[in-house]
Amino acid sequence: MTTEYKKPLPYIHSETKAYWEGAKAHELLIRKCRTCGRHHFYPRDLCPSCFSSDVEWIKGSGRGTIYSFTICHRPAPSFEKEVPYNIVLVELEEGVRMMSTVVECSNDDLEIGMAVEVVYDDVTPEVTLPKFRPVGRPARDRT
Ligand SMILES: [Zn+2]
Repeated sequence: MTTEYKKPLPYIHSETKAYWEGAKAHELLIRKCRTCGRHHFYPRDLCPSCFSSDVEWIKGSGRGTIYSFTICHRPAPSFEKEVPYNIVLVELEEGVRMMSTVVECSNDDLEIGMAVEVVYDDVTPEVTLPKFRPVGRPARDRT
């Protein structure tokens, strides 16, 4: 059962439609360039490395590490009840970085370099948001 979701939802257009359909199916889809072999994120029809339009979708591993993060104490509109909340930049195994949030972990336990894996938050029947959670040792076991 879904309660009404009142926070902003993504604007889904032709370049990102497959990404959001993948998220809804609990798959993290990433663009890969067939010309230079590099992955990129956010999804675009042109490779940002070599400007080739020969790009494909691949299923990402969903694993990565926290590249950087911040804790927001002044909320964005509609996020007033969430403060303090984290915004993380996750470096995926494929080498791209994506902005998201880490769940199942207190903000105090977040660390740069922490191994994380994707989880899917079905916020509406149409939209699923990829988020991340720690993997490996529980954060509180770290020294
Ligand atoms: Zn390329």
